[in-house]
Amino acid sequence: MLEVEAALDIVLEHTTALSTETISDYSALLGRIMAESISSDIDSPPFTKSMMDGFALRAGDERHGPLPIVEVIAAGQMPRVVVESGQASRIMTGAPLPPGADSVVMHERCTVDEERTVTVNEAIKLGQNVVQRGQEMQQGEVVLTTGTSLGPQEIGLLAAVGRTSLSVYRQPQVAIISTGDELLEPNRFPGPGQIRNSNGPMLVAQTLRARALPHYRGIVPDQREYLQTIVADSLEKYDVILLSGGVSAGAYDFVPEVLTSLGIETHFHKIKLKPGKPLLFGTKGRQLIFGLPGNPLSSFVGFELFVRPALRRMRGLANANPYFTSLPLQSELVCRGDRRTFIPAKIEWEMSGVSVRPFRWFGSADLRAMGRADALLSVEPGSHTFAAGTPVTTVLLTQD
Ligand code: AMP
Ligand code: MG
Repeated sequence: MLEVEAALDIVLEHTTALSTETISDYSALLGRIMAESISSDIDSPPFTKSMMDGFALRAGDERHGPLPIVEVIAAGQMPRVVVESGQASRIMTGAPLPPGADSVVMHERCTVDEERTVTVNEAIKLGQNVVQRGQEMQQGEVVLTTGTSLGPQEIGLLAAVGRTSLSVYRQPQVAIISTGDELLEPNRFPGPGQIRNSNGPMLVAQTLRARALPHYRGIVPDQREYLQTIVADSLEKYDVILLSGGVSAGAYDFVPEVLTSLGIETHFHKIKLKPGKPLLFGTKGRQLIFGLPGNPLSSFVGFELFVRPALRRMRGLANANPYFTSLPLQSELVCRGDRRTFIPAKIEWEMSGVSVRPFRWFGSADLRAMGRADALLSVEPGSHTFAAGTPVTTVLLTQD
């Protein structure tokens, strides 16, 4: 049986970035991945400017007694008067430095006599409180490169360099299909033997959190023909198909054979993983198909470990792997398993440092124990008792 890492490698080997599209709306860019590099159309700052409210003058002149104030320069206004040796101009933050001056002194360090003269009470370092034209970036300079994930700062930078449209990778379109005769929609009350479809809405939310576009296709009974019809239809329309349930070896688990009948190539069907051993991955051309186990927690973990990295790669990110890190346990952890086990946990942020608190957990149907989990602890097979403070491998769930 495959180890988690080997299975993830197989998934990513079969996954490529989607095609690109042009977006001309800043509010649609957050979290998108750039498919082109862009350069600045301006020098920034576009003129040499003051970083402080104060006085513009020549370094060294502070030693020469009260200096006559020859002009007041506001931001947005061009200076008209040259600052000669032994003179100063009052200047506001962001205003252009007047010709002749090379430095700015904060007004808190000055004594002003009725706006006519200024006495400087500190030694000036040449160029202090001045940003030179083009110091941040120069016209023609590449400021953002292809593959960059767009956060608020990058979007601000796009605006600063005048880019109003941008080529980015398409977002994956994901079909979500819940299989099982026992399932019913959440607005109904379960009769004997029935349970509500919690995986459907959960996978929709996980897909959204992964910045992909979910398409909920409803509940499909455990019948070959139904399953075949909806998978075939989804293959016509979407980049990724997520099925939950019906993927193990039960008499009514038709997912594997239906996928094969539709020309989908199965790359693996089982992983050494708890929860969630039966997990199927297949492809048809560049389309990906995941058969996730029906148990909600197994389905959740399977999505985070395998589907989400694939979605990241499709979105155009170079590093698609899950966010593995190591964090100290906040409390003791007792764990026993014959497979690598992933335990829901909460990251605790405190001034003294970050730690991770495992949740008590009653098996792979226990969604409630998952409540508020923002991490999964990864524990190797065997019997373990880890004391508080022991570093454990942790997968972060809330990262982009
Ligand atoms: P399966 O993988 O189809 O054998 O299902 C395993 C377990 O998960 C069974 O107890 C199912 O009733 C349950 N299950 C399957 N699909 C869902 C779903 N969409 N929502 C909640 N539980 C499910
Ligand atoms: Mg089932």
